[in-house]
Amino acid sequence: MALLEIVKYPHAVLETPGEPVVAFDAKLKRLVADMFETMYAARGVGLAAPQVGVSRRLFVMDCSGGQDPKQRVVLINPMVMRVEGSQTGDEGCLSFPGIFFPVERSLRAVVTAQDGRGERFELDGMELTARCMLHETDHCDGIVFINHTTPLKRQMVKRKMRRLGKQNKWV
Ligand SMILES: [Zn+2]
Repeated sequence: MALLEIVKYPHAVLETPGEPVVAFDAKLKRLVADMFETMYAARGVGLAAPQVGVSRRLFVMDCSGGQDPKQRVVLINPMVMRVEGSQTGDEGCLSFPGIFFPVERSLRAVVTAQDGRGERFELDGMELTARCMLHETDHCDGIVFINHTTPLKRQMVKRKMRRLGKQNKWV
């Protein structure tokens, strides 16, 4: 396994819709293992392939932060089937270090996806799980979380990210 470099905004891959995954092979298995390792090392609860520079529709997620093995899950070619209710809470993103702001999301989300062997399954999540699945499925579609805020806030975040990028101060 290897740590992958996390791509920071405004890298173009983050705003490019990912290609569907078609080959459930050893290369995919290694990518998934590396994405889990990278996510845990960065103390994130979700990481999508575009965030490591791979323009494919998959993400890894563990809302327990490594505490509960049952919550370690990979969703390949995810599709949001149903949403219910709403919740507003602070959200961050490993591609926007140091940036947090309130984002309104559905309270519950039902997502279907394929697992590492290509078997289709359904995940029905509430609260943080729903928030994470929606945030990461957005990444698979080339959508970043600042699209869920006001245009004014979006401009502020963009300016801050460009400034940090020029100073090379991302950590
Ligand atoms: Zn993100």
